[in-house]
Amino acid sequence: MKKISVAGTGYVGLVTGVCMAENGHNVTCVDIDEQKVQMMRDGRSPIYETGLEALMVKNIEAGRLHFTTDYQSAYKDAEAVFIGVGTPEREDGSANLSYLATVARQVAESIKNDCLVVVKSTVPVGTNDKVEQFIKDFLIKDVRVEIASNPEFLAQGSAVKDTLEADRIVIGTETEWAEKILTDIYEPFGLPIVSVNRKSAEMIKYASNDFLALKISYMNDIANLCELVGADVQDVARGMSFDDRIGSKFLNAGIGYGGSCFPKDTKALEYIARQNGYELKTVKAAIDVNNQQKSMLYKKASKRLITFSGLKVAVLGLTFKPGTDDLREAPSLENIPMLLSEGADIYAYDPVGAENFAKVHPEGKHGNGSITYVSNPEHALEDANVCFIFTEWGEIKEVSPQKFADLMRTPLVYDGRNIHPVKEMVEASVEYYSVGRPSTV
Ligand code: NAD
Repeated sequence: MKKISVAGTGYVGLVTGVCMAENGHNVTCVDIDEQKVQMMRDGRSPIYETGLEALMVKNIEAGRLHFTTDYQSAYKDAEAVFIGVGTPEREDGSANLSYLATVARQVAESIKNDCLVVVKSTVPVGTNDKVEQFIKDFLIKDVRVEIASNPEFLAQGSAVKDTLEADRIVIGTETEWAEKILTDIYEPFGLPIVSVNRKSAEMIKYASNDFLALKISYMNDIANLCELVGADVQDVARGMSFDDRIGSKFLNAGIGYGGSCFPKDTKALEYIARQNGYELKTVKAAIDVNNQQKSMLYKKASKRLITFSGLKVAVLGLTFKPGTDDLREAPSLENIPMLLSEGADIYAYDPVGAENFAKVHPEGKHGNGSITYVSNPEHALEDANVCFIFTEWGEIKEVSPQKFADLMRTPLVYDGRNIHPVKEMVEASVEYYSVGRPSTV
């Protein structure tokens, strides 16, 4: 078993650290955020992920999982350092690598033994060559250090399962030494390993994410056309899904993808292409469709209502998808400011995301509008003039068509996740608009 350190305890870093410990390795997780580190030492996960906290506590108690802000002691004798810090997008779409560079320098100035540095963060093709040189330039001891690329494919909401039962583990290395260390680390996971060179590994990550983003945008494009010609996108998707070449996943139309990965990874690859004098037309189209899709429901509702001013607007769901407390690039973040600026009185419900949302939009007055956070969907719907559904949480799916009719002042619903069969909403006398399906009027 190996002595491993992990830099960054976000969705990727913490899940990696916990799952490495679960597979028998001795793991120290490092973060710069002291509050987070203290929470984790107390056995509490700073992020919401199914099963994560229980596994964390189990491995802390087994003595295999530690947390610290003291990077020097964590890196100095680690056999491998995994890096899972953020690589957010810059204004121009390129990836901001400053967090990665900081960790690289900290590793270089700390290690006293030979060490494999494994980059899990999503980085532009060729970055790891530069990181290796950067670390070598700053080394204070004459030790062997190499970089491996090991992109992460977990999805938020099912991150632990995705890691322990991953479809594949991609490792990108340039020497047998690095390949052997990384293969040994993953050996106890018992999963298929795809071993390629570093640049191919970096590209596999972008090509996979952007393909999924493309699939979503394609279905959203088809959904918009379905509305115009009177077809039903859910039936269309069902008909497509039986074809093995297409598959049944990622065929749901909606108000667009969000989260920390698809939006930035599409823009990053498009940027990389542009830097290389190539126009990546397909990915560019996926980005354009997604931008248009996010405000589509708002535009539909604006046409139907004269104004949102003074209306009680129920919002069900704030996070970018169910199963996570993450709000990054969530459609709610685009729609709620528009509703507030129009003077809407918003009553928002989300089973886990409200606290994070309130940090960006605190409860209370915002110009002529206001926002109030409520603890159940019913409270949001009571006496509401209109309802927007942004996230398909189980708790939100359970709100029956009849409830909308019974609780709302005017049962007018804009559903960005196609939760309810149109027929059932019609039967309950709800005026219902969704994505790519016939409306009730
Ligand atoms: P995150 O923002 O949730 O977490 C990053 C963490 O790194 C934070 O806790 C931050 O405090 C910490 N950090 C910053 N500088 C540090 C330093 N010098 N030392 C130690 N810790 C430091 O990020 P994330 O969502 O986990 O994403 C990390 C990377 O993984 C990104 O490149 C992302 O594209 C990629 N990725 C993310 C997902 C996902 O679903 N979130 C999936 C696959 C890949």
